[in-house]
Amino acid sequence: MSRKFGFLGASLLVILMSASVLQAETPQAAPAQKAKPRVIVLGVNGMEWDFVRPLLVRGEMPNLARLIANGSSGYLKTISSPNCPKVYTTFFTSTTPPENGITGFVVNGQTANTHMLKEEPIWSILTNNGVTVGMANVPATFPVMPVNGYMVSGMLTRGKDCEDGVLCSPKLTEVEGGEAVYPAALKPELLANVGDFYIDCARIPKLEALAGHETQSVNEWLAKVDTIRAQQTKLFDYLLTKYPKDFTFMVQSCEDRVGHWLYPIQPHNVGYNAKVHGARVDAFPNQYRAFDKVLGMVLKHVDENTYVFIISDHGIKPLRYSDAHAHMDHPMDSVIAKHDFKDGDEVAGAFIAVGPGIKKNQHVMGLQVSAYDIAPTLLHLYGIAPPKQMKGRVMTEIFEAAPAPASTTAGK
Ligand SMILES: [Zn+2]
Repeated sequence: MSRKFGFLGASLLVILMSASVLQAETPQAAPAQKAKPRVIVLGVNGMEWDFVRPLLVRGEMPNLARLIANGSSGYLKTISSPNCPKVYTTFFTSTTPPENGITGFVVNGQTANTHMLKEEPIWSILTNNGVTVGMANVPATFPVMPVNGYMVSGMLTRGKDCEDGVLCSPKLTEVEGGEAVYPAALKPELLANVGDFYIDCARIPKLEALAGHETQSVNEWLAKVDTIRAQQTKLFDYLLTKYPKDFTFMVQSCEDRVGHWLYPIQPHNVGYNAKVHGARVDAFPNQYRAFDKVLGMVLKHVDENTYVFIISDHGIKPLRYSDAHAHMDHPMDSVIAKHDFKDGDEVAGAFIAVGPGIKKNQHVMGLQVSAYDIAPTLLHLYGIAPPKQMKGRVMTEIFEAAPAPASTTAGK
């Protein structure tokens, strides 16, 4: 615990010190500081290359195709039995779940939350090094923590009708048990300018509740998913426009949720229900078509000097017969596809990286880079050496040999 308060305290101190320095000096007296690299990380929860590739080939994801052509991409090796809170915390800390404290949706009977973090997350390291940080809807960031910028929590935010460990999607005004927005003054501003948005994707309905009106229920649920994505797009656009930061991290979560119960499985797959799974076989690929439009909006905020990283924590595959009675990674009903395979290589994630000094049109083969490499690579862009507890390495294969990626003097 002391360690946690140590870095939190340090973050606050830096913010307070920066504020007082700004007040004490006239603009002319401010030290000439080299501009920090601008980095935007867009996370896609459970992006599955098996579905993305055919859409790319058919020209149905033009924005992602452009990024792939202009950067380096490939599989991202994930961890064992991957799920969102575990892998995202690995992204944040480059440590294993037992080391960082986030071992699943539920830890010691409680929904995973930021009070449980045992290793310093990247937003704190960046803050301590004077990098401005903006984060929105990133999983496992509830309650929000102070940063040199803003933070709006995402998946695992608790609120009205939430049960421990069960995913729910409270609206911003329905959040309970902690703050979803930092700084506090940003919350009324978002309510006024973006609206009372859902903070996570919609919960999957129970199968028995759909009986007799499957198609209608599926369509209604998908309409809610569309609403949530539209709200999320508005939120991201507002924040990117009004509060541009050196480092921005935003995450979409509806792709994964739709995949879990509307993956277009076949009659021979486990859990097939013709009335449900025949209703909207386009639903899952449609999530990626929709993601590409969100990406298009984000790219309007990007110039050729901005680094863009698209990362996904894992893929997703249909259940197998051996899984039929096994527990599911998401504690919810109606699941027909999952990603908590013990061997994470079966459901590798994805990465696409674009920016100054990053190789263009390069496909990194196999599973060379891993979820552990995300934090060291992002820190490297700011010239910050990874702290010794980090397991990963800088993804050197994505960078041109020379010139070296933009670097500032190492912080602290
Ligand atoms: Zn999932």
